[in-house]
Amino acid sequence: MRTQKLLALAMVVGATSLNVVLASPAQARPAEVGTGACVEGEGHSASARGGHGADHREVSAKEQRAIARETKARLRAKGVTRAELKSRSVSVPVYVHVMAASDGTGDVTDAQIQAQIDVLNTTFAGGESANAADTGFSFTLAGTDRYYNDAWHKDHSSSKYRKETRQGGAGALNMWLVDFKYLGIATFPWDYQRNGAIDGIRVHWDSLPGGGIANYNEGETATHEAGHWFGLYHTFQGGCTELNDEVHDTPAQGSPTNGCPIGRDSCALPGLDPIHNYMDYSYDSCYTEFTPGQGTRAQSMWAAYRS
Ligand SMILES: [Zn+2]
Repeated sequence: MRTQKLLALAMVVGATSLNVVLASPAQARPAEVGTGACVEGEGHSASARGGHGADHREVSAKEQRAIARETKARLRAKGVTRAELKSRSVSVPVYVHVMAASDGTGDVTDAQIQAQIDVLNTTFAGGESANAADTGFSFTLAGTDRYYNDAWHKDHSSSKYRKETRQGGAGALNMWLVDFKYLGIATFPWDYQRNGAIDGIRVHWDSLPGGGIANYNEGETATHEAGHWFGLYHTFQGGCTELNDEVHDTPAQGSPTNGCPIGRDSCALPGLDPIHNYMDYSYDSCYTEFTPGQGTRAQSMWAAYRS
């Protein structure tokens, strides 16, 4: 039973990844993908990894610019300087909500949860590559709760279960471990004020370290989703444009990466695709870094919206 389920899941992941590979560049551009099923009535609050393609919240270049203006105004009002942001360190409390099925499926162990926290700490500290940035963020497990509810396990009524179980304020990372067709879905920091009750990340329970999803079971889906939660876009946001993901040291990228194709270059703009970046769609084993620019952006978003 377990094996069959995991095989089916692997096929889904493989099939959707293949769709991305086969899609034309225009179809693969996030801005043209459409809202997809991940939105679930949340409006403009979600962004997804997995189901690689038709699951991304649309953030248009126009909206990007409006968010950037709002962020700048907030930082100015708080007297926060860019230089100061580079040397900040922030400890983030993490609340893990295990949404298991009534038969115990998805009831991950405390050891797995701690291993996931360890992965967050390693990846956000730049521990996987000499080129990686230390973003200044660290994570501590603030609490774990467990529910045995088949509907919640399948991520049904997600707004409801998040409102009922979420803990902490704007600076608390809530992680719900569920079984859905995505690897993960996140909310953005600029949406907290409007809809804080559902703020956080939903992550497939079997993507945790030692999980069963081939190529996506080293815990780095949570790193990717936390990246969105800190205000990072995909490295392929906006496709081959100068605006792209608004981070100067992640080369523009035309479409998401599948696997780990060394030397990939999907854009005529300078630089190879940042396939090792946590904000691409590469395999967990291919992921090794955030850039200094992403670290500064995440700190600026934290200062503007989460502190
Ligand atoms: Zn994503």
